[in-house]
Amino acid sequence: MGKGTLIRALLERVPELELAVSATTRRPRAGETQDVDYHFLSDAEFERRVQAGGFVEWAEYSGRRYGTLRSELDDRLRSGRPVVLEIELQGARQVRQTVPAAVQVFIAPPTLETLRLRLVGRGTDSPEDVERRLQTAADELAAQEEFAYVVVNDRLEEAVGRLEAIVRENLSAGPAGTTLSS
Ligand code: 5GP
Repeated sequence: MGKGTLIRALLERVPELELAVSATTRRPRAGETQDVDYHFLSDAEFERRVQAGGFVEWAEYSGRRYGTLRSELDDRLRSGRPVVLEIELQGARQVRQTVPAAVQVFIAPPTLETLRLRLVGRGTDSPEDVERRLQTAADELAAQEEFAYVVVNDRLEEAVGRLEAIVRENLSAGPAGTTLSS
């Protein structure tokens, strides 16, 4: 399963966590809903918000832009509610600078071959996009030692159990954002 499945399972187990809805310029996939899965923005609207300083972090991934809007984060952090960001590596590096208290977990695919099978099986990416995503995943894997925690996304039950333990340990240590990356 993908990172999204893992994170949904985490949110069920730790209901006080709130997931920030990211903005992206990619098109919605079948079954994705505006403002639930993502804030789907045009290139122009995304750019306008970049210029206005509306993003905590943003990055280009597989030819599209993705970012966390300040409006998703600020109120929650101010009131001490734990927020989960599901973001890729460049964004995680930005958050490390701007929100140093954030707990960062690298979610690793079991192998690149399982990732390939999942991407091909999902059937939403062109062969070029699959190759591009695999290359990015390989590059990201090389950066996993930057992260305080690494969870290998192998069997759902075990992976979510490890993630839950990390989150609970840090929640009891005090309020801080939690970042999930890979
Ligand atoms: P997908 O197109 O598969 O939904 O997402 C592609 C990648 O973008 C994933 O690695 C996902 O974690 C990352 N991503 C999603 N939202 C954000 C975001 O707000 N910021 C950053 N930097 N990456 C994101």
